[in-house]
Amino acid sequence: MFGKPGAGKGTLSSRLVKKYDLLSISTGDLLRQQIQDGTEVGKQAEEIMARGGLVPDELMLRIVTDKLDTLHDKHWILDGFPRTLRQGQLLEAHLQSRGTPLTLVVNINVPDEVIISRISDRWVHIPSGRVYNTSYNPPRVAGYDDVTGEPLARRADDDPETFTRRLQAFYNSTNPLLEYYGALANQEVVTTENVHQHPHQLLLDRPDKLVVRTVTGSTSDIIWPDLDRIITTMFPTLTPRASGPEGAQNTTPLAGVVAASEAAAATSSLK
Ligand code: ADP
Repeated sequence: MFGKPGAGKGTLSSRLVKKYDLLSISTGDLLRQQIQDGTEVGKQAEEIMARGGLVPDELMLRIVTDKLDTLHDKHWILDGFPRTLRQGQLLEAHLQSRGTPLTLVVNINVPDEVIISRISDRWVHIPSGRVYNTSYNPPRVAGYDDVTGEPLARRADDDPETFTRRLQAFYNSTNPLLEYYGALANQEVVTTENVHQHPHQLLLDRPDKLVVRTVTGSTSDIIWPDLDRIITTMFPTLTPRASGPEGAQNTTPLAGVVAASEAAAATSSLK
């Protein structure tokens, strides 16, 4: 899931997780949990995040791959990673070595002015990463999470000045990744035999070539149908969650979002 800060990557990932049997990993959520837990990683990341900078690539790679390596037989979404060209290259090398290269990059394209105007309305439930917007996606009870009833918080780095720096970091460091993925998507597919591949991975329907798609809109509601269409077209056997019109009525709303505590456990080797 590729896009500017505040483009709605978290909101759209949550919707996909609610509808389909897949998992979402948000590096921002993982880092915020590490900060809240007071881990070494959290201490390193806190100051960088507070000023709207980017956490070092190698550290990010370890956080993400520790998690990914536990998800052999699952479809997953990465939200917020990779964020630099180097992270993209490191991730690609890691996934290639596992025999599971990336299959889809979705570029969530939202105009800057839309993002800047709505960021001041953003509230989050830190433990789960659930995001609300007081204008178009308010919680049922103002200031409290719909699922747990716990209080919501503003993100310190959502203040206008820091946010502008994050947007700048996006243009300087993250946007160049699109070109990288565009080039990968146009490459011939080379089938490598004897790659280290978990047997379960063979059961997933896996397009054999990277696809890059851009969806454009000023709200997640506008973008959602296009995104959903891309997912159903590319992964026809992806299972919707049980029953109900959206296929999600019998599940916890964010059942597939990697629980913050579980995520913290996955990175415990870094503490
Ligand atoms: P947003 O997408 O709205 O910027 P995130 O929650 O994804 O928010 O990220 C918040 C902060 O966490 C970033 O500004 C950055 O400091 C840090 N961060 C998250 N993911 C990465 C990453 N892949 N590389 C470096 N820093 C990251």
